[in-house]
Amino acid sequence: MIVVMKPLSPQKEVEHVIQLVREMGLKEHVIVGEERTVIAVIGDDRFKDRSVLESAPGVDRVVPILAPYKMASIEIKKDRTVVPLGAAAGGKIGGMKIGVIAGPCSVESKSQLLEIAHAVKEAGAVGLRGGAFKPRTNPYSFQGLAEKGLELLALAREQTGLAVVTEVMSIDQVGLVNRYADVLQVGARNMQNFNLLNAVGEQRKPVLLKRGMSATLEEFLLAAEYIMSRGNTQVMLCERGIRTYEEYVRNTLALAAVPELRRVSHLPVVVDPSQGTGKSYLVDSMCRAAVAAGADGLIIEVHNDPEHAMTDGAQSITPKMFSEMMKAIKRIAEAVDREV
Ligand code: PEP
Ligand code: MN
Repeated sequence: MIVVMKPLSPQKEVEHVIQLVREMGLKEHVIVGEERTVIAVIGDDRFKDRSVLESAPGVDRVVPILAPYKMASIEIKKDRTVVPLGAAAGGKIGGMKIGVIAGPCSVESKSQLLEIAHAVKEAGAVGLRGGAFKPRTNPYSFQGLAEKGLELLALAREQTGLAVVTEVMSIDQVGLVNRYADVLQVGARNMQNFNLLNAVGEQRKPVLLKRGMSATLEEFLLAAEYIMSRGNTQVMLCERGIRTYEEYVRNTLALAAVPELRRVSHLPVVVDPSQGTGKSYLVDSMCRAAVAAGADGLIIEVHNDPEHAMTDGAQSITPKMFSEMMKAIKRIAEAVDREV
């Protein structure tokens, strides 16, 4: 439920409500708005007596949250969340400006990463992607450079100012990845790894949460809720396509998820047209469509030599294609009252 305080209610009254919430065995999440404060009450409140809260001084009303996810729901927060990516480039995801994260699927070498990082920065990206730990279907495939890859990402950040976005695959990697990354990526295959979600929820770097390839939007939002309920509210939802019977694409990019997620949640929505199509020649069109559909950000695989990429070459665009795409989405962003 949500406790809506009266406009300009004093801090003392807010604190009293928090105390009552805790006495009920529930947790509070306070959202200070311009005019009034709202207290989201988190936990299983089915059998709790809300009249205690209703009659507390300064309380305007107590409203049940209908969605099963609470902190991720638009019901508790009407203004949209903006996630600062936290590097010198000063990029953000959410708000008026659309943030673009780009880079190779995997970090392969120093020259590969630096060349791509400088090129995408030049074209207007705010974040650099690149996997150091790769979730591969085949155990004999390239698994990523691990810590060496993280060091290269940190070097690329130093040279470009781009925020580093990289995947963390397990709880025991969280500490290590956290030391190098600006944003922790939780991959599609781990979207319902609840222990990992809790672990990234315990730290304070932003999280890019990818939709599981067979997850419903409700399951996706409940995964975000796991992270947020541990205190980390800096979550970005990433639509990366789902498994269907269709074979002309690697995954079916569900772009209707963009406006739907924005309708039910205040969290920013990022689209990954690379995993979302598996075909480099489809990426440009899907970037345009994502921006037109209201995406807050894009994450795109860019490679300087896609033919020889160690992972996902077929869906990687070249720096030149990336820079043309950036020009195209600038025009589309303007048409939908946004900027890139
Ligand atoms: C990736 O971004 O390279 C990746 C493995 O993504 P996903 O988890 O969406 O498959
Ligand atoms: Mn990939």
